[in-house]
Amino acid sequence: QAIKRSTLKIGMIPADGVGREVLPAAQRAIEALGSAIPKPEFIPLIAGWEEFNKNGKALPDETVRVLKEECDAAMFGSVQSPSHKVAGYSSPIVALRKHLDLYANIRPVASVPGTAGPDVNLVIVRENTECLYIKKEEIHDNADGSKTAFATRQITSKASERIGRMAFELALRRGAERAAPGAPATFWKGPPKVTIVHKSNVLSVTDGLFRETVRAVKENDGGRYDGVEMNEQLFDVAVAPNLYGDIISDGAAALVGSLGLVPSVNAGDNFFMGEPVHGSAPDIAGKGIANPIASIRSAALMLSSMGYLEAATRINAAVDAVILEGKYSTPDLGGKSTTDEVTEAILKKI
Ligand code: ATP
Ligand code: MG
Repeated sequence: QAIKRSTLKIGMIPADGVGREVLPAAQRAIEALGSAIPKPEFIPLIAGWEEFNKNGKALPDETVRVLKEECDAAMFGSVQSPSHKVAGYSSPIVALRKHLDLYANIRPVASVPGTAGPDVNLVIVRENTECLYIKKEEIHDNADGSKTAFATRQITSKASERIGRMAFELALRRGAERAAPGAPATFWKGPPKVTIVHKSNVLSVTDGLFRETVRAVKENDGGRYDGVEMNEQLFDVAVAPNLYGDIISDGAAALVGSLGLVPSVNAGDNFFMGEPVHGSAPDIAGKGIANPIASIRSAALMLSSMGYLEAATRINAAVDAVILEGKYSTPDLGGKSTTDEVTEAILKKI
């Protein structure tokens, strides 16, 4: 259920690369909703690699302050990260997730019914705060002149428990949505299911702790999740530590045709930040041909997370209709349209 508000203040952080081209599309999709949501107010905010090169800080304090004190929600574009270590630089998106306690990255991957390609309808729930992303690395010189590098991987029962709970809650919601009268048929037929992604046969201590903690969420639930199956393969909702979550969602994106289609929302307990799964795509940045759909769908996810379900459905239905018609699509999907042309087609349907 959405909180009652007279305006909806949304912090907009385009950051770098195609983020600057696709975030305006998300803003226009939200504006096109009219009275379906409280009057949106967009607050432009700065962060990114380019900002670091200009002013020496990838995430200005003011951006964090405004998000925390003034915004109801946020949208993030994409950040370009250097492939080598740069003194003083660290990723602003990783820092933002921490500042706002957005401990989950929810990444639905679904094909549009009626289109070619495999039937896909799943969600990856990626842990957002730990694993190898704590970036505790060291390098040692060996006696023979060679080097050995280590990265510490952190898995805590606390982070695993809250991500596990988020996954089971999401599975319950998806089950209820599929069972609702008039719900569109989806490829997933059985009861809702949470799949734990791990490699605990090899990483028995870290992945072992993750697996055991998530299993315990279901087992110690007093029956709340009895209707949700749990396994460790073939999934409806997949719950994974940070790194595996990133890898399998890039893989799942290939199943639906393009990374340019896959949205996500960074979720905490009461703040949500939409963000396309793709990166800054330097190979196509500045050409006006980036697919805006991942970003537009991320806006819908941000809204549905806040309880604006009808508004989100309107955006998603418009996107599906444009994909199904196939008249306007960007080059990543084999089309010839620009970012703006696809956006316009979607806005008309909204
Ligand atoms: P990062 O390190 O920033 O996460 P990445 O390695 O995940 O980046 P992306 O920037 O996401 O890489 O780009 C991967 C490929 O997908 C590139 O070929 C890029 O052009 C393509 N791509 C990414 N986003 C889009 C989009 N919105 N529209 C079309 N193609 C895209
Ligand atoms: Mg990436």
